[in-house]
Parts: sequence; C-alpha cells; structure tokens
Amino acid sequence: MKKYKNNTIDQHHIWHPYSAMNSDLAVYQVSSANGVRIKLDDGRELIDGMSSWWSAIHGYNHPVMNDALQVQLKKMSHIMFGGLTHEPAIELTKKLIEITPENLQTVFYSDSGSVAVEVAMKMALQYWSAKGQSKRKKFIALRSGYHGDTFAAMSVSDPETGMHHIFEKNIIKQIYVNQPISRFGEQCCDEDIESLEQALINHADNTAALILEPIVQGAGGMWFYSAQYLVKARQLCDQYGVLLIFDEIATGFGRSGKLFACEHANISPDIMCIGKSLTGGYLTLAATLTSYDVATTIDSGDPGVFMHGPTFMANPLACTAALTSINLLLESDWKTKILQIEKQLFSGLEICLEFNAVKEVRVLGAIGVVEMKSPVAMKKITQAFVNAGVWLRPFGKLVYIMPPFIITVEELDCLIGAMVAVIKEH
Ligand code: PMP
Repeated sequence: MKKYKNNTIDQHHIWHPYSAMNSDLAVYQVSSANGVRIKLDDGRELIDGMSSWWSAIHGYNHPVMNDALQVQLKKMSHIMFGGLTHEPAIELTKKLIEITPENLQTVFYSDSGSVAVEVAMKMALQYWSAKGQSKRKKFIALRSGYHGDTFAAMSVSDPETGMHHIFEKNIIKQIYVNQPISRFGEQCCDEDIESLEQALINHADNTAALILEPIVQGAGGMWFYSAQYLVKARQLCDQYGVLLIFDEIATGFGRSGKLFACEHANISPDIMCIGKSLTGGYLTLAATLTSYDVATTIDSGDPGVFMHGPTFMANPLACTAALTSINLLLESDWKTKILQIEKQLFSGLEICLEFNAVKEVRVLGAIGVVEMKSPVAMKKITQAFVNAGVWLRPFGKLVYIMPPFIITVEELDCLIGAMVAVIKEH
C-alpha cells in the first residue's frame, strides 16, 4: 500500500488552483458556509467577498436551493444525455431561451466554463466547415482577455498572462487585438476600433470568430470597457462576415448590473457561453447557446452532427440548481440590490485613492476593484484579510470584491472596512 503524509494531506497531496505542491501559502479548511458567512474549522467566521469566484450569487446553504436539490436527488442525480432527456434540462432550456438575447435558440450543456468556450469555438469551426469555408480556422481575441485553462481556451486568452509562454509549442496562435482602452460609460475611441478593424481587414478570410468577454474583462485584469466598443464589434463582424462569441461566464446573471453584460450595448452575439453563477454556485454546469442559423448550418455539413458530448452533459441536479437559482434571482429585486451594492462599493472604496500604493479604484455593478501600483504579497495580505474576518483573494496588482447579492448593508460595510484597512496597512 502507498503511504501518505498523514497530518498534512492537503499540503503534500492535493493540488489547488494555480498552486505548487508543498507551498507555504496557507489553505484554510472550511467546515460549513451559510448565507455570506464561511465557517473555518478552527471556529473563525469570514464574510465572503468572492462569491466563490463569481458564482455563489445567493450565498451558501440557501433553503430554496437545498429543497429543490433534495427533491431532484430523490428522483435521480444523474442520467446519461445521449438518447435520453429529462425535465430539469427541458425547463432550464426554456428559461435560458427566454432570458438571453433574442436570436439565441439552442443550448449545449457542459460541465465547466472552459469547456463551454471549447464548445463555442468548435461550433464556429464546424459552422464554417459546413459552409465550405474550412480555411476559416483562426479566432480573433482581445489582449487581457481570459477564457479558461484548456488548450483552445488558453489560445484565445491574453498571450502574455494566458500561459502561452509555458505551452508555446502546444498552443495554436490566434490573432490578438488591443484591449479596448475606452472606459465603461465613455464613447469608444478610434484607436480601439482601428486595432479590431485592422485585424479583420488582414485576417477575415481565415477567421472563424471574434471572441470576447463583454464589458468586463475578468481574470485578465478586472477591466471595464466602453459598451460602444461592443456595438462597433458587432457591426464589424457583420461587415466582414465573422461570427461573434460572447463569453458571459463571469458577467452573466446580474453581476455587471444587467442580467447579461451584452445588454449594456443592446446587441446579441452569434454564440454565447455561460457558467459560474448559472447554478448559483451550487454545482458545476456551463452552457453554450447559439442561433438556429449556426445550429442548422452545422447540421447541414459533414458529419451532420455537432461533435461534442460530455459524460455529465445536462446533469439533472445541476440543471435543477440552475433553474432554481435563475428563478430566485428573477423573483428578487436584483437590479435595485446591485445598484445599492454598486453605490456602497463606490463610496466605501473611494478612500483607497488616498493611499500611495493604490493606482486606481473601479466599480461596476457588484464588482469593486482596487488596482495597486505593484503586485500584492499574497501570503501576507490573505492572512491579514482572514485575521480581519473577511474572505478576499487578490491576484497580481488587483484586490477585488464581488460579494453574494444577498449581502446586507452592514455585512458589506464590514467587508469594505476590512478591505480598506488591510490595503492601507499593506
Ligand atoms: N471565461 C471566463 C470569462 C472566466 O472568468 C472563466 C473562469 N474564471 C472561464 C471562462 C473558465 O471557466 P471554468 O473555470 O469554469 O473552466
């Protein structure tokens, strides 16, 4: 029998996201989570400022979510989706078609955001192949974008921060255009559009699609850009005959103040990816939606089917969680709540601008970002947050907060207060 290091299983035997084995970075053991509070094994309680990476919009251990899942659990937790279907998938699909942009009529379920992006890219490739234009193999992507950790998703993520250098020989080279510098709420400047249009002029003939995160670039820099850029991007894609893919995996379900971030620009993509808060953070599920035009064109080509089919596709428990979470959101006064969170983040974080180490403060919807002038000391700052009773996980120069939508004014005050105090000390 193999041996393990009994008292330090986590440190010596388990990988965490972007982690090293035997790392000295603390990993805190959680015993339970309820509402916006995370309870650690040692009895300490932390107010959650991360929503478990954009996902737990209703907080943890929500009674309505728990009940719905228990009911479904007694019927079946999983059943294969090849040749079989079920009510949770059908009901969820009806709801997704109802709430997403008009032209999106078909839904492909997968198990993570990265896979939803792979599926979107494969849809675009099969679409062009069916149209007899197989040379359209490339994707145009924005610098500072992030679309996931699988190989195709990495290829359309930022070439510098997206790990391209490590996997250089394995990653397909795509076409990268400048990150839009025009800010959210402002007009889009000519340079932003020129970079995109130039790429289309040079590469439209062999490009399958433009892929981007609408309005909010998340893991690539927590950057909020002009809605007008999206309007122009849609126009240019139509003009040059290129498909448009929106990655709403982080932005979907209210986080930016609209149900989907593309609503800030009133435009629809040809393909859209959703994930993360789709299930209210309960279970892993993602989806790729597309139009009938794309779907039926794929059907009409060789091999006559769309070539993807995960084992846990449309898992019934996950579909139940998603449907329940969407209903909970839509039945709540979420728009007012997000506006209130936005106002509170603005007024609470503004003071950080007075600190020397801070470069900028940005707020949009339920996302608050403090950009530092240099990268934070992860170990020290995370410990300081935990000691202050909050859960925040900065990366690089960015200290950010995106609480569950159910957070109260008092809890958010605590969270912001701790964040400001630790940043000041830092
Ligand atoms: N796209 C975006 C915009 C994301 O933020 C992420 C995850 N951070 C992904 C794709 C990948 O999702 P997952 O981690 O579920 O694979």
